[in-house]
Amino acid sequence: MEIRQGARLRGLRIGEDEVVTALEFGDETLALGDGDSVILAVPPWEAARLLPGLPVPVAHAPILNLHFAHQTPGPVRFLGVLGGLCQWVLVRPDTVAVTVSAADAEAREAAEDLAPRAWAEIRALAAAFGLPGEWPETPPPCRAVKEKRATPRHRPGDPAPPPVLVLPNLALAGDWMEPVLPATIDAAVRAGRRAAKSLG
Ligand SMILES: Cc1cc2nc3c(=O)[nH]c(=O)nc-3n(C[C@H](O)[C@H](O)[C@H](O)COP(=O)(O)OP(=O)(O)OC[C@H]3O[C@@H](n4cnc5c(N)ncnc54)[C@H](O)[C@@H]3O)c2cc1C
Repeated sequence: MEIRQGARLRGLRIGEDEVVTALEFGDETLALGDGDSVILAVPPWEAARLLPGLPVPVAHAPILNLHFAHQTPGPVRFLGVLGGLCQWVLVRPDTVAVTVSAADAEAREAAEDLAPRAWAEIRALAAAFGLPGEWPETPPPCRAVKEKRATPRHRPGDPAPPPVLVLPNLALAGDWMEPVLPATIDAAVRAGRRAAKSLG
């Protein structure tokens, strides 16, 4: 098996019998033989571009991550927070990472405003849980990463994902294809297994 990094699938060639006959990459077209099949595990907007008319989630929710460059003697700790800006705090030897899901309001705020608020909560956690090391009042250097389309926005009444086997030799995967779990790594794994199974 060959893994090709950085190869964007630009189009699918579909024959008269609705079977995928070739994968079109930028500089190359990969013809499929009899018995070849495709698992398409791309984000929903890419799946809809490649298969026009495919019903996919169109609303997405952002995730904010803050990474503080801060040294601690350890051990690694993973802490959940209720009612704060931080939702999850991962304390590692040279970083403290904060995750905020469904971060609609926070994604509109400047990193310079978010960092001191988050750091104040982290210091309170450090005191409450007796985390070893120094936890100075001044926030250490912080990098904010805002991913606007981090996950589909799960809402009551949203339509179910499309059928896995959308064409006789093409199955859909990706976290958004999982019908039960929210869009997570577990969902992506389960959807991938379901797609493989559907192709026999
Ligand atoms: C900031 C952030 C934090 C998260 N934290 C967690 C967490 O703590 N726990 C958790 O379980 N989940 C978390 N998630 C969600 C998790 O990352 C996703 O649910 C999971 O990665 C989805 O896997 P996937 O394979 O469906 O999609 P992706 O991981 O998005 O993979 C899709 C791949 O398709 C590629 N691609 C797109 N278009 C094309 C094309 N035309 N041709 C070829 N390749 C293409 C993309 O480059 C990408 O590599 C987080 C997500 C974000 C953004």
